[in-house]
Amino acid sequence: MNKEWSEKNKRIQDYVGKESTYKDAIDLLFELRKELFEQISQIVNGYPAEAFYQMPYANANGYHSKTLAYSIWHIFRIEDIVAHTLIAKDEQVLVTGGYQKKIGSPIITTGNELQGQEIAEFSKQLNIKALYEYAKEVMLSTDSILSKLDYSQMKIKFSDTDKNRLAESGCVSQDENARWLIDYWCSKDIRGLIKMPFSRHWIMHVEAMRRIKNKLCQIARKGADPVAYCGLSCNHCFLGEWCGSCRTEYNTCSFATLYEDRICHNAACCNEKNIDGCYECPELEECTKGFYAPGNDGAVSAKVQAMFIRKYGKNAFLEVHDRLHQRFDFARTQEILGQDIHEGLRIMENEYK
Ligand code: SF4
Ligand code: SF4
Repeated sequence: MNKEWSEKNKRIQDYVGKESTYKDAIDLLFELRKELFEQISQIVNGYPAEAFYQMPYANANGYHSKTLAYSIWHIFRIEDIVAHTLIAKDEQVLVTGGYQKKIGSPIITTGNELQGQEIAEFSKQLNIKALYEYAKEVMLSTDSILSKLDYSQMKIKFSDTDKNRLAESGCVSQDENARWLIDYWCSKDIRGLIKMPFSRHWIMHVEAMRRIKNKLCQIARKGADPVAYCGLSCNHCFLGEWCGSCRTEYNTCSFATLYEDRICHNAACCNEKNIDGCYECPELEECTKGFYAPGNDGAVSAKVQAMFIRKYGKNAFLEVHDRLHQRFDFARTQEILGQDIHEGLRIMENEYK
C-alpha cells in the first residue's frame, strides 16, 4: 500500500475512535479522499477511452484484475449506497442525478456479481465522463453527510429494517459474490463504515487502478519510439509509469496534458511538418514553441538533447542517457543539461566519447 496513504489511513482509524481527535479524523479523511480522487481525475483526464475497458491483469487475484471503469463504478456505487440508503436514509445520487441513464450502465448494483469478461463488456458500455461526474457528486455528497455527523453518532448500528431496505433497493445483487455485502455493512457501526467504504476501500481500488494504468502504459510503449518529439527520452523519464509516451494514445506527458486536446504543440508541429521530431527541424535553435517556450523549465535541456540527436542519432542519444542515469536521476540530468545550451551539448558529447 502507498506509504503516505497507509499512514494517513492509520491516523484516521486511530483518531476516529476518540472524541478528542474525532474532528481531526474527519478533516484527515477529507484530505485523503481528495488525494485519492486526484488520482482518479488524472486517470480519467489522461487516458484514451479504450484504457477503461482493458484488463491487463485479467487472470490475477486481486482488485487489479478488474478494469479502470469498473473500479470507479464499484467504489462510488458502494459509497452511494452506504452513504444514502444506509446512513442518511435518503435517495442515492445515482437516482437524484439520473446517472444510470447518463452513464449508460445496464446495472444499478455494485458490480460484485460480474466476473471475467463480463467486467470488460460492462465497462465498454459506460460513458466515462458521466461516470466521473457521478463519482465526483457522490464524493461531495458523502463529505457533506459526514461533515454533519458528530462523535456521538459513530456508534449508531443498523437493524434488520436497514438490511431489508438495502435488499429491496435492488442495489446489491443476490449473487453469492455480492449478497454478503448487506450483512457486512450492517455488522458495522458508522465508525466502521468510515474505516472501510469511505477510506480503505478507496485506497485499495485506486492502487489497483494505478497498477492497471501502469501496465497499460507499459504495453503501449512496447515497440514505440522511446524518443519524444521534443528530444526527451521516454525510457529515462520520471513519468515513465504514468505516460505511455507522446507517440502513443497513452500520452499523459505533463506538458501535453496542459492542453485540452492533450496534444503537445511540438508534437503537433512535427506532424504538420511531417518530420520525426524537432531534431529534424532547421528552426530548432531559434524555436520558442511549446516545450521550448522561454522560461519553461526543461526547455533548454530538451533543446540540447534534440541538438545531440540531430548530430549523433537516437542510438547514441539513448546510450548517453543510460550512462548519465547511472549517476543522476532524471531531474538532475535535465538540470545538468539545461544550464546552458552549449555546455549541455558538450556534456552529452563528452559522455559519448
Ligand atoms: S512525459 Fe514526455 S518524455 Fe516522459 S514519457 Fe511522456 S512523452 Fe516521454
Ligand atoms: S518549429 Fe519548433 S516545434 Fe516545430 S518542429 Fe521545429 S523545433 Fe519543433
